[in-house]
Amino acid sequence: MIRTVTALFREDFYLSTCEASVTAVLEDGGIELDQTCFYATSGGQPGDTGFFERKDGSRIPIVETRHGATKDVIVHVPADGQARPTLGEKLVLHIDWPRRYRLMRMHTACHLLSVICPYPVTGAAVGEEESRVDFDMGETIDKDEVTAALMKLVDANHPVYVQWITDDELAANPGIVKSKNVRPPIGMGRVSLVCIGEDSSIDSQPCGGTHVSETQEVGAIHIAKIEKKGKENRRFRIRFGTPEDRAAS
Ligand SMILES: [Zn+2]
Repeated sequence: MIRTVTALFREDFYLSTCEASVTAVLEDGGIELDQTCFYATSGGQPGDTGFFERKDGSRIPIVETRHGATKDVIVHVPADGQARPTLGEKLVLHIDWPRRYRLMRMHTACHLLSVICPYPVTGAAVGEEESRVDFDMGETIDKDEVTAALMKLVDANHPVYVQWITDDELAANPGIVKSKNVRPPIGMGRVSLVCIGEDSSIDSQPCGGTHVSETQEVGAIHIAKIEKKGKENRRFRIRFGTPEDRAAS
């Protein structure tokens, strides 16, 4: 049987709580729901943690959210030793919002970095404290210059929004995707493009993650390190705060 879940986080990145009904409890304890605001790990962004509130007020802590066999399946992993909810039970979902918001800020910062460094991305991992983006690039670049360029984009407070387009629209207008370093995930019928700037003047690239809605929300960030990973690869590490904050800590 195929159970479908409504992934509310795809429509509203700021939804931190919602109601849901249990559609399955897996052998390993994993919980599936009819709808969820919990983001499931993918595209370098870790899935949400938080808790489910039961009718009697008790809580089921959720330590991980991941996809199942396909992206249409979302499994919420409870902490060990928790009581299992029953099929059809109604729950109130609460994501760990401070953590998710940091991930949204960091994820958006990764997009801004790919605007400043328009090289093919070979890997990325969004973290609460630090994110890394690997580029296929051979040249050396000054990290403070990159930080200054990043903060210029943050301070300009460009809008960040999602535009859904169909595979056919994309095929007809390949120019819609401004970042050439990420291949659109076609084949699912529609693609979500994350656009930065009015009329995506700064950037647009396919991405299914969660982002803030204005670049100013990213706040102070800086490039802590640029590591050389072979002749044609550079690993950038983004951290929150200013370089001065870091030096002081
Ligand atoms: Zn993204």
